[in-house]
Amino acid sequence: TERSYIMLKPDAVQRGLVGEIVQRFEKRGFKLVALKLVTPSLEMAQKHYYDLAERPFFPTLCKFLSSGPVVAMVFEGEDVIRQGRRMIGATSPLAADPGTIRGDLAIITGKNIIHGSDSKESAEAEIALWFKPEELN
Ligand code: ATP
Ligand code: MG
Repeated sequence: TERSYIMLKPDAVQRGLVGEIVQRFEKRGFKLVALKLVTPSLEMAQKHYYDLAERPFFPTLCKFLSSGPVVAMVFEGEDVIRQGRRMIGATSPLAADPGTIRGDLAIITGKNIIHGSDSKESAEAEIALWFKPEELN
């Protein structure tokens, strides 16, 4: 079994979508092993998205992520990294299939409400970045 870092971005919290999105993961059968509400510093946002540092939208992306509280979570279960990405849908909400979280709940790429780890390596790095070992159940 494996773990994925799932984060509800500031727009999701502001729009009151936390319960609905957490429910989708829980109902699917993934186990919630950590959850906290935090407002990330700009430095934290930059570390989280370090692999995109060369992209033109990087400053806007990091400013947005640090603009308000996010819900940082770790879910555990069979194939949760890949399945979580499938549930989340395409990066651009307009390209995301209906039935996916972005396809149902968003329209703007820069405000696509949720992040999910994209590999075993990124999941490990992101969980270590956002959580202390003792915060994981
Ligand atoms: P995330 O990492 O947030 O789960 P993702 O893996 O679907 O999203 P990435 O390529 O990792 O997509 O991009 C990270 C975030 O940067 C996206 O969620 C989106 O908000 C933003 N982003 C990506 N591409 C663009 C773009 N072309 N223009 C504006 N913002 C973008
Ligand atoms: Mg990504």
